[in-house]
Amino acid sequence: MAKSGLLVVLSGPSGVGKGTVCKALLDKDPELVLSVSKTTRKPRLGEKEGVNYYFVGKEEFEADILKKNFLEYAKVYDHFYGTPRQTVEKLLQQGRNVILEIDPQGALQVMKTYPNGVFIFLLPPSAAELRARIIARGTEDKASMQKRLAAAALEVAQAEKYKYVVVNDHIDAACDRIYAIIQAEMLKVQRNIELLQAFAKEVEK
Ligand code: 5GP
Repeated sequence: MAKSGLLVVLSGPSGVGKGTVCKALLDKDPELVLSVSKTTRKPRLGEKEGVNYYFVGKEEFEADILKKNFLEYAKVYDHFYGTPRQTVEKLLQQGRNVILEIDPQGALQVMKTYPNGVFIFLLPPSAAELRARIIARGTEDKASMQKRLAAAALEVAQAEKYKYVVVNDHIDAACDRIYAIIQAEMLKVQRNIELLQAFAKEVEK
């Protein structure tokens, strides 16, 4: 049986750059598979079905909730987002390392079901920088920007529940740090017991 893969959960406040860092990480680490979420929001220009998200209606999403098809789900501002449970379980069983790029409400739910997951909190370099990034997106009105900043403050207060904190001061640097975390997690003794036992057996011969 294949050794179970690592479940990596990348989270952090809205506007910190989770999506961009995650994309860079997937380019750097060919062993890593992205879990594609389901969402009730409409696709943005250039987004592809099954690549960025599975775009579904509210009815389908609610049916999935009832069928317990989500590993976690949350309403992030105006839309619902959820991680398909079966796909993640299957990939992990096959020994693949899976990354979830999800909001902090979702990350806290996954901590309960996968306490051995690698929970990484992506932190903006400063509050001023986060403010600037949210404003730079330009897609939100003043009230919703305020809402995001208030939520960010609460989310950062919960960061102590994660295993790692990575400052996103530069995409490549943040990506290198997360890559290093994954490599170190793979080398943990607990993950390599079988290797040690096989060696011990061989050396005794
Ligand atoms: P966007 O609409 O910009 O693609 O994503 C909005 C937020 O939803 C981001 O913070 C993103 O990380 C989060 N998100 C994406 N997929 C999921 C998911 O499956 N579960 C949760 N909880 N959040 C998600």
